[in-house]
Amino acid sequence: MQTLHSAPIVLPVSAEPIGDGAVLVDGDRVAAVGPRAELAAAHPGVRERRWAGVLTPGLVNAHAHLQYTDFEDLNALGQPFPVWISQLTARRPSFTEAMWCESARRGVNLMLDSGTTAVADIVTDACVLAPTARSGIGGISYLEVVFQDARSWSESGRTRLLDQLAAAPAGRRVGVSPHTPFTVAGAVFADAVAIARDKGLRIHPHVAESPAESRYVAEGTGPFAETMAKAGKAMELIRDGGSGLTPTGYLDKLGVLGPDVHAAHCVHCDAADRAVLRERGVYPALCARSNKILQSGQPPVADYLREGSPFGIGTDSLASSPSLDLLEEAAALRELARAQGYHEADLDRRIFEAATLGGAGAMALADAGRIEPGGPADLAAFAIPGLAGLDPADAYSALLDAAAEGAHRCLVTVLGGTLVHRAA
Ligand SMILES: [Zn+2]
Repeated sequence: MQTLHSAPIVLPVSAEPIGDGAVLVDGDRVAAVGPRAELAAAHPGVRERRWAGVLTPGLVNAHAHLQYTDFEDLNALGQPFPVWISQLTARRPSFTEAMWCESARRGVNLMLDSGTTAVADIVTDACVLAPTARSGIGGISYLEVVFQDARSWSESGRTRLLDQLAAAPAGRRVGVSPHTPFTVAGAVFADAVAIARDKGLRIHPHVAESPAESRYVAEGTGPFAETMAKAGKAMELIRDGGSGLTPTGYLDKLGVLGPDVHAAHCVHCDAADRAVLRERGVYPALCARSNKILQSGQPPVADYLREGSPFGIGTDSLASSPSLDLLEEAAALRELARAQGYHEADLDRRIFEAATLGGAGAMALADAGRIEPGGPADLAAFAIPGLAGLDPADAYSALLDAAAEGAHRCLVTVLGGTLVHRAA
């Protein structure tokens, strides 16, 4: 069954914008993309769906925690990261498996309703894999390793991870997320990465998110050292008085960083760190709004842009973000790039690429985040002000301008050829 999705402007992202364009969908794949008149003439009688917006690839969210959608009230705490994470941890036991699943389902729906069709999702409770798989949303679920020292790892943590990987439902790709250098002992971190590599799975830790993390890795002191010591965890970095390194430098020394890794946040990365990430093929997943809420600092997006580092964009969880709308996140990141002095003409296009191709690159999804023949029929259409008469070349800017003002509306989301959201 073929459908022609047409719109005043089509942004394939991997090719130039098309005025009065169309995408021919055959089953769950894109059969063709081009000018509407050409495709309609070549396929007479094909069913057409016309969208009064900008038709784009489905967005790719490079970092989220779907299961924490119902922890939404935590984003208004106004507390810095170390306090926030202790509150989140204290809340966790109040949730049952049914509640985690419902929370993750709500997160998936918020993403689909705002044009996101693939997500890098961190999974702390493996029960949420089933509803995520059922939704059909693309991307990878990364099973999290957290609060582990060598002893807890050998007693139960390692077996638990192996069991969860073995029991993962068909229909959802999984990976491994050693949480951070401050919640996972060095030897455990390296072993979790070795397990992932042995199984050919991708890896997605949090790296260089907060000043407290940098202090812990460098000196083995600060709020995270206190938390882990209080929990009775034997951590090398506390024992040794730190590594003297940045989080990026430390993980590189452990042999963690490579092209099968993408890293959430990468806020506290200096020029040397950014060079290491680039050389190792590690995409940062930038989550500027979450960083602001948790008073973690600003990701150096202008530097990543100037230095030519590829990156993706993530919303993080609703527990530390105002929305799961990736276009809004992208608009906030663009604002930050400008504030950091990046005003090149390519800014808007590159930010939109990060929200599509960047996320796909972060997870090595070969054909996501772009509209190309043979690729998945994952699409979104956004209504924006001033569409009539808009030069297709200005569509990237217009989308981000609209999102910055909350004036965009996701008209439709197509996932594998199926309409999974349609604006009322
Ligand atoms: Zn996170």
